[in-house]
Amino acid sequence: MAVSRRVLVLAGIALIAVGGMFARPATERASARTETPLLDVVYAAPAERVTALQLRRGETLGGLLAGANLVENDLWNLLLAFREYADPRRLMAGSEVRIRYPADSSEPHAVEIGLNADTTLHLYRGVAGWEAELSVTPITYDTLYLEGVIGPGQSIYNAVMSDPSLDISDAEKDRLVHELAYVYMYKIDLGRDIQPGATYRVVYERETRPDGTARAQRVLVAELTNRGQSYPAIHFLVPGETEAGHYDLQGRSLRSGFRRYPFDRPRITSGFGTRYHPILGVYRAHQGIDFGAPTGTPVAATADGVVVTAGFDNGYGNHVVLRHQGGYTTLYAHLSRIETGVRPGTAIQEGQRIGYVGATGLATGPHLHYELRLNGRHLNPATAPLPTAPPLPEEHLAAFQLQAAERIALLQSIAGSLPVYADASEPPATVVAD
Ligand SMILES: [Zn+2]
Repeated sequence: MAVSRRVLVLAGIALIAVGGMFARPATERASARTETPLLDVVYAAPAERVTALQLRRGETLGGLLAGANLVENDLWNLLLAFREYADPRRLMAGSEVRIRYPADSSEPHAVEIGLNADTTLHLYRGVAGWEAELSVTPITYDTLYLEGVIGPGQSIYNAVMSDPSLDISDAEKDRLVHELAYVYMYKIDLGRDIQPGATYRVVYERETRPDGTARAQRVLVAELTNRGQSYPAIHFLVPGETEAGHYDLQGRSLRSGFRRYPFDRPRITSGFGTRYHPILGVYRAHQGIDFGAPTGTPVAATADGVVVTAGFDNGYGNHVVLRHQGGYTTLYAHLSRIETGVRPGTAIQEGQRIGYVGATGLATGPHLHYELRLNGRHLNPATAPLPTAPPLPEEHLAAFQLQAAERIALLQSIAGSLPVYADASEPPATVVAD
């Protein structure tokens, strides 16, 4: 299958943002090493001893250092130097503290405290007592582009994992596919609902440390086509919010409206369609999907709605039926227990816990039987088109459209062998491929 890839380095080095934690700007600590000529091995006493400790839950930095032979005024002085950069109370349990002692003394001469994965505060005895210096690992941003066509019997997962031109580790490829699955979680089941001929194009931004490990990553823009539908995803941070999300070209969130399934990590044990019923001993239509899960696993409502039924019958056992906008209903059966407060008339939000997996009614073992109906007619929950979320509020729409146009232009500028269906300049742009 045609798979190509390009790596762009869009931005150079940037110091990571360290939030409001620090009072002073970061200074970089020089760590230049010069080549030294090889000498014969000499057994010399080490110049210093280093003790590495971790802050325990409930332990204070002062408490930890007092146990390391730092006393009274000296300790107070050190904590003062620390406070110029960070609040000791905001230090997390598990933070690394390295204490350095001169070889001939039990009194520390330097202390290094890891403030987070990328920032270390170095404390050392200066002329006027303890002094502190912050060192921040430089972070590099780079951007990966990947695209591909899904072949028969292939999934996006194995297409990406086996892409020989994608120059990142398997762990990162794995993370990338999971990120993509997360972006599209409410729209497409990437594991099951991808047809041969489906295509993907993704611009993926990474923050990497000097040792090459990724610190964070995000899908800036993606476009998936499947079953003749185009699914653009634009990364956008709504002003005033702290977490960015992904939106379609009309500014509708990809992560609201209807969830595909009532679990984040669905394990489908029986699909929609005709099958042999193990208890009734007859062939009959399976009107929903079965998910294998241990008894007691929480079940989440797939969309906002109102409880129509919450009770027991012989077939479904303990079950809940929700009514949603647009003539949709969902049913959750064989529950071990219905969540307290879930009764007819109760308003339920998408993602809200409505009950727990069980094996009540006609069930051979613990599982969730899930049905989706539109105006009373059963739909296949794995493939049915689902109602979408309302667009962003008017006041953010212009900013979004600007960003969407830029991102689609970025996607088009890196164009490989695949066409780009999405065109942000003329919404609505749900383009149907052939
Ligand atoms: Zn079932």
